[in-house]
Amino acid sequence: MLDVDCDNCGVRIGLDSSVVSVKHQLHKPVECPICRNMRVSKEMELLENEFRGMKSEENETKLRRLRIPSADQSFF
Ligand SMILES: [Zn+2]
Repeated sequence: MLDVDCDNCGVRIGLDSSVVSVKHQLHKPVECPICRNMRVSKEMELLENEFRGMKSEENETKLRRLRIPSADQSFF
């Protein structure tokens, strides 16, 4: 177990060191369960909107932001 801070809200969480290592390798943020659930539900809502044909520029920009981790999340 490793004590790490959630990259989103900063709360301290205990994660398996192998999980943290994989997340860093994939340039993915370390998230607490609350932030993760919020991100996943937001992502699902945006995808649902896309399937329903509610395609908007704002929707696409949000989806793109969720899919591509930004360069400033690099840990190397
Ligand atoms: Zn969090």
